[in-house]
Amino acid sequence: MTTDIILSCEFFPPKTETGISNLIETRKNLAVIKPEYYSVTFGAGGSTQDNTLEAVIDIQNASSMTGIAAAPHLSCVGSSAPRILDLLNQYRANGIERIVALRGDLPSGTRAAGDFRYANELIDFIRKETGDHFTIEVACYPEVHPQANSAQHDLTNFKRKVDAGANTAITQYFYNIDAYYYFLDRCQRNGINIPIVPGIMPINNFSQLARFSDNCGAEIPRWLRRRLEEFYDDTASLQAFTLDFLTEFTQKLIESGVPGLHFYTMNKTDPILTVCQRLGLTH
Ligand code: FAD
Repeated sequence: MTTDIILSCEFFPPKTETGISNLIETRKNLAVIKPEYYSVTFGAGGSTQDNTLEAVIDIQNASSMTGIAAAPHLSCVGSSAPRILDLLNQYRANGIERIVALRGDLPSGTRAAGDFRYANELIDFIRKETGDHFTIEVACYPEVHPQANSAQHDLTNFKRKVDAGANTAITQYFYNIDAYYYFLDRCQRNGINIPIVPGIMPINNFSQLARFSDNCGAEIPRWLRRRLEEFYDDTASLQAFTLDFLTEFTQKLIESGVPGLHFYTMNKTDPILTVCQRLGLTH
């Protein structure tokens, strides 16, 4: 299968020397799929924010050779306007032109004092302070954000981000492909016309994924959950099954004409690389 859709990969910022060298290796391995950019997450109110800065600068510095740009995630909840401006200035000074702008989630028990309540306010701020310098990516939720009052309210709030100046959106991961198509349709009917790139989450560890999915409002369909449960501690069979599942899932998305694919890599080369090799997405 050949295609010219835009690919991107997401990493979390490593905290240890081993994590840093693993990520360098993963970046090198995934370069064969020629991603447009590598993004790095940013923990709201967390202690790892400096690690994000370091990781994106490293990616950006390598970009003259790799051709792969860096895109820091920037979450605003609990933060101040001067702190966000300082980060924007540092990113700009380092040649970064793309940002994934988010509200973020504070660690439980933390109070949300700060200058921003929602991502649309962050986007307003970025546009006010930096004009059109940054391409702004935002998050969206085909299966509805867990805190939204209703699906329609969530869509209205997504539109606020687009109206504030978002250029493209990346979805929360999903395994129910119809939820994504239905969401695209509703976006179009609500005047949301930016590209909506599906976020793809590999299945490495079922119990971890189940816990995470409950929190972020992504559904693991019953048939898939039951199938995954069957493997229990048979890691090899689980890996073989999830690789086939992910390949077929990604292939269907490509065939339906998605504008891009955003891979949540969890800092691992596989299964993303194998899926891309199977689908002829490597160069
Ligand atoms: P928002 O768009 O602000 O929405 C949050 C909730 O508030 C929704 O329920 C929405 O309906 C509602 N809402 C929005 N605007 C308004 C308004 N004006 N008035 C009333 N209600 C409103 N988290 C991190 O901490 N760091 C990361 O690096 C990170 N990266 C992510 C990358 C992607 C692609 C995705 C999909 C998520 C990521 N997250 C990250 C998680 C994200 O921060 C959470 O899902 C968070 O709960 C919502 O962020 P948001 O930007 O979508 O928020």
